[in-house]
Amino acid sequence: MNDALKELYQDVIIDHYNHPRCNEPIVPATSEADGVNPLCGDEVSLTLKIQESMVVSEIGVCTQGCSICTASGSIMAEELEGKSISDIKSSIDAFKGMMAGGDVLSSTSGDIEALSGVKLFPVRIKCALLPWMTLQQAIDQYEGVSKENHISTEE
Ligand code: ZN
Repeated sequence: MNDALKELYQDVIIDHYNHPRCNEPIVPATSEADGVNPLCGDEVSLTLKIQESMVVSEIGVCTQGCSICTASGSIMAEELEGKSISDIKSSIDAFKGMMAGGDVLSSTSGDIEALSGVKLFPVRIKCALLPWMTLQQAIDQYEGVSKENHISTEE
């Protein structure tokens, strides 16, 4: 990575850290989850509004944490809001793959690419992953709940 690109990526992360997007909790939420990264002290509180069409229309990410975790949550919410659950699941998998050294995930804003540099700092990978893992948890929980509802309506 050349220096100009590195600087651009740092600017993107600092901008999201100073002005986190989608950082208001969604009330009432269709699903919610909390994530903690004890290594760094990062805490993410995530709320979602999920439509019956399985589109996640609103994402709220409230982060108390370091710049990488806050920026990652902000970038994630901005990129994934309005997408379907299945698209979001593939993006989460692709992001985890990117952090494990796989292909860089491209985004409409170009901001996810800025997080690709984090994989060079192994101790920070968990910071970048936390909002995405918490989102996964909120979606799993929603699907668990909707499955239960489905079973109960069949009785
Ligand atoms: Zn952190």
